Amino acid sequence: MNAAVEQYGVFGHPVGHSLSPFIHGMFARETGQPMSYRPYDVAPEEFPARVREFFANGGRGLNITLPHKVAAVELSHELTERAAHAASVNTLALHDDGILGDNTDGVGLVRDLCDNLGLAITNRRLLVLGAGGATRGILAPLLELEPESLVIANRTPERAEALAAAFADLGAVHGANFEQVGDAPFDLIINATSASLSGEIPPIPPSVIGSDTVCYDLAYGKSATAFVRWAEASGCARALQGLGMLVEQAAESFSLWRGVRPDTAHVLAILKVRTGSS
Ligand code: NAP
Repeated sequence: MNAAVEQYGVFGHPVGHSLSPFIHGMFARETGQPMSYRPYDVAPEEFPARVREFFANGGRGLNITLPHKVAAVELSHELTERAAHAASVNTLALHDDGILGDNTDGVGLVRDLCDNLGLAITNRRLLVLGAGGATRGILAPLLELEPESLVIANRTPERAEALAAAFADLGAVHGANFEQVGDAPFDLIINATSASLSGEIPPIPPSVIGSDTVCYDLAYGKSATAFVRWAEASGCARALQGLGMLVEQAAESFSLWRGVRPDTAHVLAILKVRTGSS
């Protein structure tokens, strides 16, 4: 007899653009897991009731995307350490003791940077642009790798400074505005602003990019994002988009839910062809 098909999904608003159903569908097929995964467009005012309803009706796990990642913290009966540090949840899993809230964005980014792209973080100078939910999720995993320094720069500098203070126990981290980041090249610049979504570029001086600088945009698209185009035009060593992070954070959620780690290289390769992304 076939094992019962267990229910998973992603809650967001909007969610129609999400690649998560495709990614988890491939993970499930390739690992032989009996599960379904659906997108759910859930308005903010309905979010708590819809989450409770999903789990009451037998659902086993959810991904949480914009704009619900902070609200999902409140709905978790227990948080992983990384979700508590990020104060943001992108994965809910039904456990015996209730709903566990996790944040897999940071480990997803680090796996893409270090394992897929072969980049080093330890002893490197890092610049993170943006101080929103994504930055909250990636700071602890980056700082655990002991960069020489990490500067957070944001349009609203008070948010960058508040984040730097909140993570100061984990390493050398400073907050700044875009103009204050200095003029020496960084080893790695991560764009965690949502500026790419409107085709804009954070106004950092081009002098922060040298011929060895790697630039990584958390955003991704069919063609190069505005930040990737700007970084390439400024003479960086490599400029990359966040599709690999998306697949790696999904793999971490999948293994939390199913206890099986899917192969990400194959799914990422297919997704790059499907989306026309580089
Ligand atoms: P968020 O919480 O809304 O934060 C947005 C950040 O972008 C804030 O720091 C904001 O600055 C800044 N910003 C917005 N528009 C800007 C502009 N025109 N110029 C300069 N700064 C601007 O969003 P988020 O959840 O952190 O997401 C940020 C990005 O990461 C999005 O593009 C998202 O798609 C991407 N992301 C990708 C993955 C992945 O798996 N690849 C995972 C998570 C997120 P203020 O504080 O001044 O408003």
